[in-house]
Amino acid sequence: MNKQLLMVPGPTQVAPEVYQKMISPMINHRSAEFEETFGRALAKLKRLIGCSGDVMLFPGSGTGAMEAAAVNMVSPGEEVVSVSIGYFGKRFAEILKRHGAVVHYLEFPWGQAAEPETVRRFFAQHPGATCCFLTHNETSTGAINDLQTLREAVPEQVMLVVDAVSSLGAAEIRQDDWGIDVVVSASQKALMLPPGLAIVAASKRAMDKSKSVTSHRYYWDFQLAKKFLDRPRPQTPYTPCVSLVLAMDTALDLIEQEGYQAVYARHKLIARGVREGCRAAGLEVLAPEHAASPTVTAVKAPEGIEAGKITGIAKRRYGVVLAGGQGHLEGKVFRIGHMGYVTWYDALASVAAVEMAISELGVPVEQGRAARALQQVIMEGWLK
Ligand SMILES: *Cc1c(COP(=O)(O)O)cnc(C)c1O
Repeated sequence: MNKQLLMVPGPTQVAPEVYQKMISPMINHRSAEFEETFGRALAKLKRLIGCSGDVMLFPGSGTGAMEAAAVNMVSPGEEVVSVSIGYFGKRFAEILKRHGAVVHYLEFPWGQAAEPETVRRFFAQHPGATCCFLTHNETSTGAINDLQTLREAVPEQVMLVVDAVSSLGAAEIRQDDWGIDVVVSASQKALMLPPGLAIVAASKRAMDKSKSVTSHRYYWDFQLAKKFLDRPRPQTPYTPCVSLVLAMDTALDLIEQEGYQAVYARHKLIARGVREGCRAAGLEVLAPEHAASPTVTAVKAPEGIEAGKITGIAKRRYGVVLAGGQGHLEGKVFRIGHMGYVTWYDALASVAAVEMAISELGVPVEQGRAARALQQVIMEGWLK
């Protein structure tokens, strides 16, 4: 038998009722049926993001949503600040450079969150910057930024663009209340859908600015998307991912039925259980506790052991699929994704598999310690 537990930070597990939607017969994307579901799914996304502006869906992955934000917010030659706390922050800067932006790059040590005072000083040094690009949850390191505090460190007139690919649906985001101009995300992480939908939520101010941005674009153009969204019933300029839009309507129902706050609390509790479990097995979590991500945990491989050995054994022998490290962390950390359609027993199996794998690799560890620590966290969390 080859039953596997998918615990990578995207793509993530998909609920049976969502799969069911994916296989419903194809419909015309210019039909009332599609437009109704599309409109309903967009309204749910707006509630989730706390957005009164426009939410656009493009066929694409998260990187597509990042590129869409870049080409609609920044003209070639324009100065921007790109704040990075890891691999995906670096990717945003790279996208911006390739589109001709003048990028002032501020990188924090991988594993840490961005420090608001440093961000404030950086803006004082770069008064010409018009936009700030920032990662909410850095999937490569398992660290999460405090968006509300960082917004206060970014000058009011500077547009804030946030990569929320691995946080939307698992950690709170209030776009309007927190003054975020553009939120980008994707379907295959905490939204518990298959890959294929790039999500962009733009404030009114961001939409207005995009009108005067001179970069070349068609597929990703906000104004073109808006023209079709503003029809009597919302549409898209070209063929949308019909099956994914239908499935998203159902996935967002699951989130609304559980309740946003309950969803966020579940992610925090499971994440804490995973961290405590790993520590009980003698391992070190990369991010400090105050910046630890609710959706992904990066764990340092023990001295002298290549991280790929741990993920290899976890998958081959124990059927638990974990992720390796990215960038300069490759081989040094492994990552456990715990976002979306994930429950405590998925986390339990994951930390147990890690404990067994490192034991096989010669690390002296008493079996059962990781599980016990996780169970303790879960029980205490639920008794509260
Ligand atoms: C996964 C991820 C991306 C990239 O998404 P793709 O869908 O792989 O293009 C970007 N940013 C963050 C924070 C991510 O977790």
